[in-house]
Amino acid sequence: MIRHKLATIFLLCVVSLAALLPLFSEQKPVSFLIVNAQLADGTGAPLRQANVRIAYSRILGIGDLKPEKEEPVIDAKGLVLAPGFIDIHNHSSEGIIADPLAETQIAQGITSLILGPDGESPWPIITWIRSVEQLHTAPNLGIFAGHATIREQVMGKDYKRIATPQEIQFMEQLVRQAMNQQALGLSSGLEYEVGSYSNTDELVALAKVAAEHGGIYMTHIRDEADKSFEALNEEIAIGERAHIPVEHSHIKLGTVGVQGKAAAYIKVIDDARKRGVDFMADCYPYDAWHANLKVLVPDKQYENPRSVAKALADVGGASRITITQFKPNPADAGHTLADLAKTAHVSDVDMFVRLIREGDSANTEAIIICQSMIESDIKAFYQQPWVMVASDGGISNSHPRGAGTFPRVLGLYVREKHWLTLSEAVRKMTSLPAQRLGWKDRGVIREGAFADLVLFNPDTVIDRSTFTNPTALPAGIEKVFVNGVLVWDNGKPTSARPGHFLGPGGAPIGILN
Ligand SMILES: [Zn+2]
Repeated sequence: MIRHKLATIFLLCVVSLAALLPLFSEQKPVSFLIVNAQLADGTGAPLRQANVRIAYSRILGIGDLKPEKEEPVIDAKGLVLAPGFIDIHNHSSEGIIADPLAETQIAQGITSLILGPDGESPWPIITWIRSVEQLHTAPNLGIFAGHATIREQVMGKDYKRIATPQEIQFMEQLVRQAMNQQALGLSSGLEYEVGSYSNTDELVALAKVAAEHGGIYMTHIRDEADKSFEALNEEIAIGERAHIPVEHSHIKLGTVGVQGKAAAYIKVIDDARKRGVDFMADCYPYDAWHANLKVLVPDKQYENPRSVAKALADVGGASRITITQFKPNPADAGHTLADLAKTAHVSDVDMFVRLIREGDSANTEAIIICQSMIESDIKAFYQQPWVMVASDGGISNSHPRGAGTFPRVLGLYVREKHWLTLSEAVRKMTSLPAQRLGWKDRGVIREGAFADLVLFNPDTVIDRSTFTNPTALPAGIEKVFVNGVLVWDNGKPTSARPGHFLGPGGAPIGILN
């Protein structure tokens, strides 16, 4: 099976090289030179002045390089040249099909979208890979296998219970299948409906299979509210028992009961790291989260007034909750739960229950934004060396993080608030996620690495997306290259789609685009 696959890959390489040969035989220059750039090379090293030569999809040279005869030159005019940003938590597996240019993503400098987070992925993975490869996309793509997706494959609609040993064995087989189809690891979303019924043993069993295939375990843990610490301990136990690197998705302390406890939370993680647990996390730069309405009520008693009242109090009240999407009543979008209750002359709790019932009868759910994190916690998390930047957003996201995350960190947290140096922020967007994924030749500017690059203006870079206009494009991202091809230039996409599908290792797999 593996030998067959290798043979196929080899054949494809030969075919692709053959396709490139006519380019060599023509006398046209095949390289280009970026001059006058300040390099933030992704390693966290201080900025330095250098020219960078690119040929085909790779970086050919760095230093005091002079243009060759007829070689095209791009003048960076002193702006910052960084590796393209790798978004390790991106929800665009469907969006990319409708929008392969991914304008809101490349406009932020993102060159690789890592999809399939929170336990949900396309299935079968290989079918999805084939469809995006035929489509040709501007950014590179990678994919995780979703635990909930796999659980539903095995248990169908009967998932509201612990799985049997036979069912877990079947799930293990499906994880193996996904890993053989180039998944980067296993993702879980244990606060969501399907994943929440699994126990720790099930997750350990599946994570072990991902680990055997070189994958990582990326998780939206069981609770980001009052039980955040218990959920963190479970996550660490899964990492230890399955001997698998862990990526903690969108680290946060999301209720009044745990707000302000970042230092204690970080200590638990640092202690685990000292014991040898390979633990990293990502964080989005906003104090509001985005999910469905039911996530608010951890005991799942969505119509129990006492449970609902506690849930609302935990996040600081109904005014902290804004509906962004509700199919049975689209006009609710943009209003807070408190506003809706006031207009309908009912209590906040009654309004919540009404939305749950309307949603249940229409077989859909209200999508909400909930402002329940505090800035000092976000700052503390971002200042940890093992915390990277990720959006938890994606194409057409109704949270501004979908179009604003990376420029926001550079503009707000680096330039305005001085939480991070520029080179450290760039490291958190590039080599750190690459390291987490085990990618060797991306996330850094060095000779031989893939030429995924972003040129930005450190004085003007900033997000412009808001809760009322969540897809507004950022400012200050001047040029973006994917595999050596310009995809974003001067405020708009070039319409080039040079993205590859990337498996473990970060090299293109399957057919070359
Ligand atoms: Zn999540």
